[in-house]
Amino acid sequence: MACRTGCPTPGKHKTWGECARSANLKVAYCGIGGGDATEQKRWDAELDLYRAARRQGIQPDGTTKDKVMAAIESSNAAGAAYGRDFGAAPPAPEGVEAA
Ligand SMILES: [Zn+2]
Repeated sequence: MACRTGCPTPGKHKTWGECARSANLKVAYCGIGGGDATEQKRWDAELDLYRAARRQGIQPDGTTKDKVMAAIESSNAAGAAYGRDFGAAPPAPEGVEAA
C-alpha cells in the first residue's frame, strides 16, 4: 500500500508520489512565483506550500520556499516523505527510476 495516510482513495495509487501528486500539492506548487505577487502574497504562498507538504507527511527543514521545494522534490524523487521516511540523503527504493 503506497498511499499516504489520509488518502481519500487508498489503494488507487501505485506509488507515494502518484498519491501525493493526485492531492493538492501541485495546486499549491503553482501558486508560487506569480510575477505580480506581493511580498505578503509570496509569504502566504510559501506557508501554503509548507502546509500542503506537511499534509503529505513531508517535514521540510524550514518554511522557506527553497527548503519546502527541496523537500517536496526529494520526496517525489524518492517516493517517500522527506523528514518522515528519510532525511537529507534520500534512499533509493526499489522500483524508483532515475529521472
Ligand atoms: Zn492515494
